[in-house]
Amino acid sequence: MKQAVHPAVGIDLGTTYSVVARLDDTGRPQALINGEGDQWTPSVVLVDEEGVVVGKEAVKAMSTDMEAVAECAKRDVGQRTYHKMIGGRQYPPEALEAWILNKLRVDTQQQIGEYQKVVITVPAYFDEVRRKATQDAGYIAGFDVMDIINEPTAAAVAFGFQQGFLGQDGKDKQRRNILVYDLGGGTFDVTVMQIGAREFVALATDGDVQLGGRDWDQRLVDYVAEEFIRKHGVDPREDANAGGRLWRECEDAKRTLSARRRVKIPFEFQGNVVRPEITREQFEEMAQDLLDRTDFTTRQTLQAAGLQWNDIERVLLVGGSTRMPAVVKMLKKLSGKDPDRSVSPDEAVAHGAALHAGLLLAKHQGRTPKFRIKNVNSHSLGVIGNDPVTGRPRNGIVIPRNTALPAAAQRIFKTQKANQRSILVEIVEGESASPADCAPIGRCSVRDLPRNLPDQTPIAVRFRYLENGRLTVTVKVVGTDRKLRHEIVRENSLNHDQLNSWRRYVSGLPPLAEVVVDDA
Ligand code: AMP
Repeated sequence: MKQAVHPAVGIDLGTTYSVVARLDDTGRPQALINGEGDQWTPSVVLVDEEGVVVGKEAVKAMSTDMEAVAECAKRDVGQRTYHKMIGGRQYPPEALEAWILNKLRVDTQQQIGEYQKVVITVPAYFDEVRRKATQDAGYIAGFDVMDIINEPTAAAVAFGFQQGFLGQDGKDKQRRNILVYDLGGGTFDVTVMQIGAREFVALATDGDVQLGGRDWDQRLVDYVAEEFIRKHGVDPREDANAGGRLWRECEDAKRTLSARRRVKIPFEFQGNVVRPEITREQFEEMAQDLLDRTDFTTRQTLQAAGLQWNDIERVLLVGGSTRMPAVVKMLKKLSGKDPDRSVSPDEAVAHGAALHAGLLLAKHQGRTPKFRIKNVNSHSLGVIGNDPVTGRPRNGIVIPRNTALPAAAQRIFKTQKANQRSILVEIVEGESASPADCAPIGRCSVRDLPRNLPDQTPIAVRFRYLENGRLTVTVKVVGTDRKLRHEIVRENSLNHDQLNSWRRYVSGLPPLAEVVVDDA
C-alpha cells in the first residue's frame, strides 16, 4: 500500500496500558513508542499543582501521591464522574481518558509528524454510552476520531493480516470460525468471528466491563493485607499510598506467578514487614471464581453464535491477562484445542485498529478497501413503556443483542391528545424487562410536532445502530417524509460546549468545526 497523505493510526486505549500503532510505508502495522521509549503507556494520570503527568511517572506517584492519581478510568467511562476525587476535584472519565490520549498524540507526533485522524478501540461489550464517551475522549484529546472498533474484532483483523487473509491470495482462503478471548487489565470480552475472503464477521459477542487483571491483582492485595492485619493489627489498604504501593508489588508478583511456581511478596508499612509466599496453585484457587465467570461467558457466546467447539478452528488469546497459565488451561479444557498465541496479546488490538484506519482512509480517497468488517450489537436496545397489565414501566426491546449491524427498527408512538406538541422517548440498553436493570442511553425529545395533529396521530421513531454500535434516531409523523427535529438528552455525557472547553483545556486545541460531537 502506498503511504497515505494521513498516516493510518490506531489506538488501543486500555484500562491499564495503551498502545498506538500505524501502518508503515509497506502497509504493515507497527507499534509506535512514547516519550519514554516504550511501546506501552500505563493508562495512569497524575494531576497535581505542577500539571498533568501520564504514564510511567504517574505510576510511580501511586506510592507517594495516590490522592492525585487516577487509574483504571476506563472502568468508569459512561459514568458522570470518576469514582474518586483527584486532588480534591471531580473529573469526568472522558477527561482522564483524554489526558492519556493527548500524551499518546503528542509523543507519537514527534515520530510521524502531525496527524489527527485515528481509530480508537473499545471492548466489544461497551454499551452505546461508553462508546460515545470514548469518541468524546478522542475529540477532547485533539483527535478526529474516524471510527471506534471493537477490540476483539481489531485483534481478529491483525490475525487475518498475519495469516495472509488481506493479501492478494486472501480471495482463495477458506472461511473459518475463530473465538477471540480477550482478558485485559480491566475488561473481558469474548467474540466469535468468521474470517473469510477479506471479510470479518462477528457472529456473537459478550463480556464483562468490570472484570480484568485488576481483579486478580486485588485478590493478592487482599491476601497480603489480611496477613499484615493478622501479624501487625493494621490494614495497609486504609492508607491510600500504602495501598498503591501494595498493588504495584502484587501486580508484579502476579506476573512472576505466570512464569514461576511460587513468589514471595515482601511488604513494609509503618516499620512492620510481612513476606508471605504464595504458590501458583494458591493464587489460582483465590481467583477461581473470576476465571469461572469467563468460562461461563465463553460457553454462552459460542451458544449464541449457534456453534459447537468443533466448528471453531482457533481460540485466539488477546490481552495481557491471557498470559496467566490458568487461562490457557481452562480454555484448553473447554475447547479441546491449544489456544493460539500467534498475535502479540499486547499489540494485536492496536495493529488491528491501524489496519482499520488504513481501510477508512483508503475509502475516503476513493480506493477499494482490502477488507470488510461486519459487527453485531452487544446489548439489546429498548424503549421504556408502560406494561398494560401491571401499569408499571417496562423495557420493550426494539433491536435484540447480537443483531448484525447496521441494524434499524421502528416504533410507532401515538399522541395522547389533540394538538400535542412534544413526545419523549426513553431509550435504554439491556436485556432485562425492568428499566432499573438497564443502562439508560438518554431521552429522545421531540419538541416541535406540527400544530393541530389530532389525538392518536402515529409518530414513527426509527432507531439505527451504525456499524460501530453508535445510535442514531430519526422521527417522523407517519405518512409524511419530513424528519422532525429532536434531541437526545443524555444523562452521563458532556454536552457540546463542555466538550469544546475540555478540548481546549486538555489539548490546547480549538474546536474542530466539521466534527459531529453528538448524534442528536
Ligand atoms: P492489557 O490491558 O491487554 O494490556 O492487559 C494488561 C493486564 O495484563 C494487566 O492486568 C497486567 O497485569 C496483565 N498482565 C501482563 N502481563 C502479565 C503476565 N505475564 N501474567 C499475568 N498478567 C499479566
